[in-house]
Amino acid sequence: MKAIRVYEPGGPEVLCYEDVSVPEPGPAEALVEIEAIGLNFIDIYYRKGLYEGAFPFIPGFEAAGTVKAVGPGVREVEVGDRVAYALAIGAYAEQASVPAWKLVKLPSGVDPQQAAAIFLQGMTAHYLTHSAYRLASGETALVHAAAGGVGQLLVQMAKMRGARVIGTVSSEEKAELVRQVGADEVILYTEKDFESEVHRLTQTAGVEVVYDSVGKTTFEKSLNCLKPCGYMVLFGQSSGSVPPLDPQVLNSKGSLFLTRPSLFHYVSSREPLLRRAEEVLNWLSNGDLKVQISEKFPLSEAARAHTAIEERKTTGKVLLLP
Ligand code: NDP
Repeated sequence: MKAIRVYEPGGPEVLCYEDVSVPEPGPAEALVEIEAIGLNFIDIYYRKGLYEGAFPFIPGFEAAGTVKAVGPGVREVEVGDRVAYALAIGAYAEQASVPAWKLVKLPSGVDPQQAAAIFLQGMTAHYLTHSAYRLASGETALVHAAAGGVGQLLVQMAKMRGARVIGTVSSEEKAELVRQVGADEVILYTEKDFESEVHRLTQTAGVEVVYDSVGKTTFEKSLNCLKPCGYMVLFGQSSGSVPPLDPQVLNSKGSLFLTRPSLFHYVSSREPLLRRAEEVLNWLSNGDLKVQISEKFPLSEAARAHTAIEERKTTGKVLLLP
């Protein structure tokens, strides 16, 4: 079968499209014939070697397709089931052997491309708005990179919880998309100082929570946007990592809370995974949640897809098709 393999850390050029052997599903694993692969910013961090891991590896953490075979002891799925999964590395391939407990059956009305477009980022937006900081009606949230994959879903879920949403984006085209998914206010943070804009929009009160996936370029000013006892939810670092922080800063800026969460810990077993995934997939199938698939690339052109997301050219979800 064909797959992408990475032999050394580097730029998009290290993504090698080549022949590899079909994996055998081991005990408690299932072999999935992949129909759509979700591209996520975390794939860039892995390609660059920012996370520990052994080279060579097949990248990718999200896909959807059909179960082709099951290993011994699998009870969660059967051959022929249409499924999606996240957080099992090796998705940039025509087939992948995946721990069966990570597979979630698709409801009728959700096809594999839609599922691969929403699965990981939808569950991320879900735990951010329902668990990491449980947004309440009437509160205000600041969402950075609001036109992105997680961003658009985060805006929609924050609105579903009754919050007022202020989004940030880098262009007018992205701003329009974010308004369409329901943001109350949009700030072009590449043109205006978002800290003073947030103070203006909240009559200097600040916001209850900042969902910050941009990191280096937004972190410090984001802290200044919070109300006393507000929550800083730093969940990514698209612009680079945040330097070390003296905890006293949280005191001087108003007894703030800081968390650096990961989806891994919020879907670490079958029960929370099914609860979050089924809610997200049902919202998609009944139209409460919309997912924008902005581009689809053949798997062989994964390098071009990585370049597009790194250059901030994409909005919503990017798929790779084997
Ligand atoms: P996005 O589609 O949001 O793409 C990244 C966006 O970040 C860009 O489109 C851009 O939006 C913005 N950005 C700001 N500065 C930069 C920069 N210097 N370089 C590149 N992009 C920049 O990607 P995803 O939806 O896949 O992921 C969003 C973030 O969420 C990532 O940081 C990712 O790591 C994180 N994440 C965290 C998870 C967790 O559980 N902790 C799970 C899933 C994702 P703009 O042009 O509008 O500024």
